[in-house]
Amino acid sequence: VEGIPDEGTFEGIPKIRHIASDSVGPRIKDKVVIVTGANSPNGIGRASAHQFAHNGAKAVYICDFDDSHLATHKREIESLYPGVDVHVRQFDAADEKALTAVIDEAVAKYGRLDIFFANAGISGQQKMFTETDGDGFMKTMKVNALGPFLAAKHAAPAMKLTSEAKPYPGGSIICTASVAGLRSNAGSTDYSASKAAVVSIAQTVSYQLAGTGIRINAICPGLIETGMTQAVFDHARKRGTQRKIGQLNPTQRGAVADEVARVALFLGSDESSYVNGQAWAVCGGLSAGHPVVP
Ligand code: NAD
Repeated sequence: VEGIPDEGTFEGIPKIRHIASDSVGPRIKDKVVIVTGANSPNGIGRASAHQFAHNGAKAVYICDFDDSHLATHKREIESLYPGVDVHVRQFDAADEKALTAVIDEAVAKYGRLDIFFANAGISGQQKMFTETDGDGFMKTMKVNALGPFLAAKHAAPAMKLTSEAKPYPGGSIICTASVAGLRSNAGSTDYSASKAAVVSIAQTVSYQLAGTGIRINAICPGLIETGMTQAVFDHARKRGTQRKIGQLNPTQRGAVADEVARVALFLGSDESSYVNGQAWAVCGGLSAGHPVVP
């Protein structure tokens, strides 16, 4: 395979050819990372910023249009993982100008961008399709689908700066979709459509990036206890029906954000060098089948 270093031999037998330079030690050593949707205290973005910092990132940009907790998150991450630079940026993830500004800034400061985690999202209208209005539909599409599209569009050229020097492995773009983008979801047509679009963007862009060394994947979470779903979990706790949430999937429970963040870390790292254009379900098995209704 071209581009993967030959490691020589051991007693005449070819050594295993490694693609990940950091398979021992910090998993994303010295990488420069941008994460959107990082403000929510129990959200996937904040948990991922922690995983990236914990695993050797040189710099992590934590971004959100709501910056109420970002400064606190920065102080916490820097105190837990000395050596990482944390930058706070407040902007709308679907604002192309603001998005390119933060990418340009990262490249100007560090000379590289390695991981873009386009994670910001909203839950949509959560109404019957007959009650869903067109403007609201487009708003959901704008944040959930246009945001990751713009991230890919502008992160990839910035990543080529590093990928051209060393084609394998190159940068990694990760977008948060949802199991709602893979299978029908009775909840919300605008949300499901926007997340299906994210899966399609990852699939299509992976082919358009062919040969650059840059990868793009979508993560499809199931039911994770975050700001977005807090009301569902709180309601279930109040009514003592948490077990019903668990019955939706074979792992028999909901999840915390860190369980998704660990997959984002894997997809951002060189360990996933041959994972490209995929929709990764992180859903306790929800998308593997369907719950048996008694
Ligand atoms: P969350 O509400 O806790 O976090 C979402 C964050 O995105 C918030 O901090 C919010 O301020 C930010 N955000 C929203 N719109 C934005 C915009 N236009 N620009 C910048 N930031 C914006 O929810 P979460 O569960 O951590 O959500 C993260 C991603 O995971 C979302 O894309 C969501 O659709 C997806 N997801 C979540 C679940 C779940 O069960 N929680 C399931 C499937 C997919």
